[in-house]
Amino acid sequence: METILTGIRVNGELTLGNLLGALLPMARLSEQYKATHQINVFVPDLHTIIADVDGNLADNTMKSLRYYAAAGLDLGHENIRIYRQSYVSAHSELCWILDCIATMGEMGRMTQFKEKSEGRDSANVGIFNYPVLMAADILLYSAKYVPVGEDQFQHLELTRNLGERFNNKYGEVFRLPATTAEQAAFMKGLAAEGGKADGIRIRDLLNPEKKMSKSSPAENSKIMMSDSPEAAAKKIMSAATDSVGKVQFDMFNQPGISNLLQILALTTGDTLESVVARYSGETNYGDFKRKVAEAVELFMTDFQAREAEVSDADILAAFLRGEKYANQVANAKLLEAQKAIGLR
Ligand code: ATP
Ligand code: MG
Repeated sequence: METILTGIRVNGELTLGNLLGALLPMARLSEQYKATHQINVFVPDLHTIIADVDGNLADNTMKSLRYYAAAGLDLGHENIRIYRQSYVSAHSELCWILDCIATMGEMGRMTQFKEKSEGRDSANVGIFNYPVLMAADILLYSAKYVPVGEDQFQHLELTRNLGERFNNKYGEVFRLPATTAEQAAFMKGLAAEGGKADGIRIRDLLNPEKKMSKSSPAENSKIMMSDSPEAAAKKIMSAATDSVGKVQFDMFNQPGISNLLQILALTTGDTLESVVARYSGETNYGDFKRKVAEAVELFMTDFQAREAEVSDADILAAFLRGEKYANQVANAKLLEAQKAIGLR
């Protein structure tokens, strides 16, 4: 079975945008492939500490897993392995080995590094080095597909380069992940089947030119998944619209209304096309907003009920199982690499 590897970002809190744009697509992907693929879902906690952590990382991890489970991630399926990166020490060990074949030049060319460090001397070394850790995350499991945003494609190329360089120098140890073109085709296939809502960006409710962000200071600009369903509905009712006076899907000229159409589709499970067809031409924004508010209220109620059903014991059991598996696979691959080099 081919392995699909996906990291889940741990945040203490979550917006409706995070849920619709990241968690639900990921849960759908795992549903779509769990019968035919090995799916590795890992919490990249060593990547997380590159920046200051808001709150307690262990608590945030539990909270995030509860959200993922509520979004539909199957914690108990035999082909889905859920593990925390820091519980599998082979990641750090292989990272060091790969560090010794990666060059300062290629690492310095990483766009993410340039953006995140902004050339500051005070930027931590983790920001420079994390793409090598990412290569270790992938190569340890011989993962073929790694669904990531385009901003991470350069790191997938780096992973292939480092794996190939190691193989050339020490002998065939690593299986390279699919090329970025193949990855893109895989992800496009997901998008076509509704698996990954690629490019979906839920907008800020007050300023729909921007995307909804949990770090936005304005409370009414974002719906937090911990908001009461009634409060969420109120935020929809106070969302900014426009002076066009007609419901149409036009992200450029009517981003507020288009965002509400998008939210309506995603929270009801309808396609955007059918929602647009149903409401296009409607001239009463108040009536339209009430429909969206009702849908969001129902969605939040369902989601929170599912979330309440997930127990810490279920999550810890999934970690225990996943980490046992991950340590077996990763340690075996690490040993191969160590032997090839002469460390063993
Ligand atoms: P911050 O304001 O701290 O950057 P954020 O809301 O942008 O928070 P992130 O932690 O940066 O959230 O991203 C978590 C995941 O949610 C990522 O996969 C990101 O692509 C996705 N995401 C973030 N904002 C949106 C949004 N408005 N719509 C859809 N997906 C989103
Ligand atoms: Mg962000």
